[in-house]
Amino acid sequence: MLHNDQLSQWDRENFFHPSTHLAQHARGETATRIIRTASGCHIEDREGNKLLDAFAGLYCVNVGYGRQEIAEAIADQARELAYYHAYVGHGTEASVTLSKMILDRAPDHMSKVYFGLGGSDANETNVKLIWYYNNILGRPEKKKIISRWRGYHGSGLVTGSLTGLELFHKKFDLPLAQVIHTDAPYYFRRTDAAQSEDQFVAQCVASLEELIAREGADTIAAFIGEPVLGTGGIVPPPAGYWDAIQAVLRKHDILLVADEVVTGFGRLGTMFGSTHYGMTPDIITIAKGLTSAYAPLSGSIVSDKIWKVLEQGTDENGPIGHGWTYSAHPIGAAAGVANLKLLDDLNLISNAGSVGAYLNQTMQEALGDHPHVGEIRGEGMLCAVEFVKDRDSRTFFDANDKIGPQIAAALLAQGVIGRAMPQGDILGFAPPFCLTKAEADEVVAKTVTAVNTVFQG
Ligand code: PMP
Repeated sequence: MLHNDQLSQWDRENFFHPSTHLAQHARGETATRIIRTASGCHIEDREGNKLLDAFAGLYCVNVGYGRQEIAEAIADQARELAYYHAYVGHGTEASVTLSKMILDRAPDHMSKVYFGLGGSDANETNVKLIWYYNNILGRPEKKKIISRWRGYHGSGLVTGSLTGLELFHKKFDLPLAQVIHTDAPYYFRRTDAAQSEDQFVAQCVASLEELIAREGADTIAAFIGEPVLGTGGIVPPPAGYWDAIQAVLRKHDILLVADEVVTGFGRLGTMFGSTHYGMTPDIITIAKGLTSAYAPLSGSIVSDKIWKVLEQGTDENGPIGHGWTYSAHPIGAAAGVANLKLLDDLNLISNAGSVGAYLNQTMQEALGDHPHVGEIRGEGMLCAVEFVKDRDSRTFFDANDKIGPQIAAALLAQGVIGRAMPQGDILGFAPPFCLTKAEADEVVAKTVTAVNTVFQG
């Protein structure tokens, strides 16, 4: 077996890591952690350190690690047929079966699923389909896409533009002109402390209306949003938010894309976040939880309304000029079929709901009154703790103090992985759905220790 020092050196010399401080990593100032194996909610590195992964990778290993049923399905598929494309009507038993399983679980008005590889390319597909749709309907000016500040939709050119986080724009010449941003439904960070939740929702609606009036409804094609803001801070919407936003979109004939890359297939304790919040999307983006990350696979589920226009487009123009070599890759599809079966067989979505509620409640009991905890929030198997300098005035720490990263590091030192969210001092949790109550207790107890370590020095 290769020595760790050798791997570490090769890593620094050759590996261009995503979302990494490149210079610090090359200089050896950040750790190289080589993960060797994993089981249930735990990962293990080459030094034999076992860590409780309370973020399920990147909120994607929903059924937990080491599921032999999925591994076998992948191996069987690879042996029988590792690849064939899906162009001009081709498919495999796995890809056709998976499309049926997805539509059986999706809201009734959805019609078809287009397969991609990851969340970013699925949202790229969505924007193209929306532009195609409006071109076929004879409204070539109706093209802009509205997303929210703090939304996360990927890191490509158009999807990085949709993402409403400065780090993803800065020095990349983004956002592109076709993308415009509106307010995040982030009640805790409201600027007017006296505002009620209802008043805050009314303000989100008013600022969306203003944006639409300023740009012109006839230039705006769609609104994209995650049912619960994810990477932007794990922020469930205030009550009534989605109803109020959808009323505005309907009035101006603006499509709704629900980005369910994180929430799809059970993370909120329900199959889809859209149904959880009464959303009626025209397109749903799926990825992560579709295969629990056992193989890369994503999808764009389109509604009947969209599908009918797309069909009309191909009658007028020939085959749709959009396709990836790996669309509906058989190995990804086989992983998806096995994964969705496992979710059902082990009742994992219901576990995500009940143990997720337990995690949120115990975190609240343990840290809710801490002088530097501003808010603990979550939904299903998502939980976030937001740290503040002062609770009463809701003042935040200077980003340079790196309070969130320090707490995440103090937690990691005890063997638990939480995620310092990229904007603000927010510690996020998104464990696998198989988390037990005992594991939830461990996450909470070690978070308390980490918080005390950082604030008491
Ligand atoms: N949409 C959402 C809501 C996401 O959370 C992510 C990834 N975290 C993406 C899209 C992009 O997915 P990917 O990284 O697979 O391209």
